Amino acid sequence: MKSFAQVMEDWEAVIGLEIHAELTTLNTKMFCGCALSFGDEPNTHVCPVCLGLPGALPVPNKAAVESIVLAGLATNCHIMKHSMFYRKNYMYPDMAKNFQTTQGPVAFCMGGYLDLSVDGPAAAERTDIADLAPGESRGNVTKTDTGYVVRVGITRIHLEEDAGKMVHLGGGEGRIAGATHSLVDYNRAGTPLIELVTEPDLRTPEEARLFMQKLRQIYLAIGISDCSMEEGSMRCDGNVSLRPRGTSAFGTKTELKNMNSFKNLHDGLAFEVLRQAAALESGQAIRQETRHWDPSAKRTICMRVKETADDYRLFPEPDMVPFSLTDEWIDAVRAKLPELPDAKAARYSAVWGLSGYDARLLVETPGLDDRFEAAMEAAGARASKLAKPAANILINEVATREGDTSALTAQRLVELVELVDAGTISSKQAREVLSAVLSGEGDPAAIVEARGMRQVSDTGAIEAVVDAVIAANADAVARYKAGNAKLIGFFVGQCMKEMRGKGNPQVINEILAKKLG
Ligand code: ADP
Ligand code: ZN
Ligand code: MG
Repeated sequence: MKSFAQVMEDWEAVIGLEIHAELTTLNTKMFCGCALSFGDEPNTHVCPVCLGLPGALPVPNKAAVESIVLAGLATNCHIMKHSMFYRKNYMYPDMAKNFQTTQGPVAFCMGGYLDLSVDGPAAAERTDIADLAPGESRGNVTKTDTGYVVRVGITRIHLEEDAGKMVHLGGGEGRIAGATHSLVDYNRAGTPLIELVTEPDLRTPEEARLFMQKLRQIYLAIGISDCSMEEGSMRCDGNVSLRPRGTSAFGTKTELKNMNSFKNLHDGLAFEVLRQAAALESGQAIRQETRHWDPSAKRTICMRVKETADDYRLFPEPDMVPFSLTDEWIDAVRAKLPELPDAKAARYSAVWGLSGYDARLLVETPGLDDRFEAAMEAAGARASKLAKPAANILINEVATREGDTSALTAQRLVELVELVDAGTISSKQAREVLSAVLSGEGDPAAIVEARGMRQVSDTGAIEAVVDAVIAANADAVARYKAGNAKLIGFFVGQCMKEMRGKGNPQVINEILAKKLG
């Protein structure tokens, strides 16, 4: 198989996502008063409505409608005042009613979008905008200094109910194939679920991952779901097709079902791109099929071929009246919208002068936003000055460490960056102090004293060391003077060694530059 980059030279990937989220923060199910339960004794939260017993009548959960309207407002959708429920008919034991109650052509939320910022190496995967300068746009993409921003259309978000959970026993790995019998737990049946469908606007697996991540942050911010990918409260189907670069007609797509992590979504789509390219290049047609990504075997396998559109005989739900939302009610929901991640990142840049990239990382990494804001509060008048180094420590040092980092309080973080800012310790030493703080040694300033880490910035002392290093390395000095500028690193290293790591690297650099001419 060709590499991903090679395939992307000749082919353009077209990707659209269907993302389900259970409204786990609600108290009750979608159409009955049963409590939402996760992990309770099977079939203990059921009633005639969610078991589909004859004559049972559904009553829609108002809080669920509020949740989906919040989701629509947070993703730039039009909120439809008039919509209704439909019956999607199918027979399977996980749905005792023999139909799923869902929405039809008009959903609560229609026609929204999210803007994705793509930075770093992943931005280079969009070869179609390589010729643009920062600030220039083509279609829905705008080049930036650090990558690009792409606007991804949202077709709709609709409200529906989850099915029960089936467990297959007696076979291998809980699969239905080879099982001797199956059990059904209806606790999950009727759990409120929202499904967001994107336009086929995504062009790389990384964009798909970022979309999913961004949507998850928004749902968490508005508090409508715990969005646990491991536990399945947020799951994603990835649709992907290829077309020759420079053409505009869509190719035949395949669908990857139930991707349960960001990495699986990315890797599964990337594999599909390679597989489809290999098939198309050898003259085979792509079949429209549903495939399963196997992360351990690193390949996708066919689950079922879609020959004709599924006939669910979608028809209007006769047991519920259509909705008629008022402007006042929608406005009252709008008033509950909290600050969304994009707005928060923009505030970090505006108030404390962070780059858009750093601000986004703080907002996107769980818990870093609160820690950053607490540190800025602790820094008081010095906040703007210390924002960048404090953000760097949180992003590069704290977020990457395993285990409990709560010993680094806001106060201690400020103290640590103040020590670097004052030249008392180097950034490299700051890492050592941070480790000491995290292993319970107390406040940064006390650690610096106790370990005798004060950095030497005294020019006289450093000058003496520099002279000694230059005298001892006449050979390297000659090569440096002959044009090997890289050797400066060697001299700095020698000086640092002499000073047992305590020399101020900036002062060493300055003096070396002066003496070596
Ligand atoms: P289906 O009828 O197979 O469910 P839909 O038109 O409802 O297909 O689209 C489902 C998802 O697939 C949407 O996210 C959409 O953007 C995406 N999609 C549609 N056509 C294509 C295509 N040719 N290639 C990739 N994605 C596509
Ligand atoms: Zn019930
Ligand atoms: Mg569809």
